[in-house]
Amino acid sequence: GTDLGVVAGLLRDVPDFPTPGIRFWDLSALLADGAGLAATTRLLAASAGAGEHAVDVVVGIEARGFLLGAAVAHALGVGVVAVRKQGKLPVVAARRSYELEYGSATLELPADVLRPGERALLVDDVLATGGTAAAASELVEGAGAEVAAISMVLELPALGGRARLGDRPVHTLLAR
Ligand code: IMP
Repeated sequence: GTDLGVVAGLLRDVPDFPTPGIRFWDLSALLADGAGLAATTRLLAASAGAGEHAVDVVVGIEARGFLLGAAVAHALGVGVVAVRKQGKLPVVAARRSYELEYGSATLELPADVLRPGERALLVDDVLATGGTAAAASELVEGAGAEVAAISMVLELPALGGRARLGDRPVHTLLAR
């Protein structure tokens, strides 16, 4: 099938995870499938826009954003930066706390990897409330880099994440 059809066919949803009443979208089967990972990577890389210098670097958000981000960066011929949850990085440029759909969290940007003026493609698996992507965007921008685009596999429009991301270009492959 088409790349998008392959991706859609490998998405799984799990009721009542991590808490009752929450429907969790699980990308494990998609990432584990060679054709699925290839299709996802092609679509996310294409969403970065045309032109050899559309983006200078990919920023992947812990943890599934690392898997997708590295694949997309490789496809685009650029490097990847890991925005991590608090306490994992030895040297931190900045940190940002934010509210989650369930709880709160802090993200950290490694020191000395993003340069001012660089155009970053932010990659993660799911856009829910947008808090995670907003915090990661603020970290990128705080380093003087630009969020060229935010690309995710799946958007949950009922949670309004897109509105929290302001004018930043947001690309999602599928909505549920
Ligand atoms: P947000 O900050 O509310 O947009 O939540 C996005 C973060 O939570 C992302 O890093 C996602 O990986 C994770 N997340 C939220 N909902 C889901 C889901 O249904 N499946 C997988 N990850 C999710």
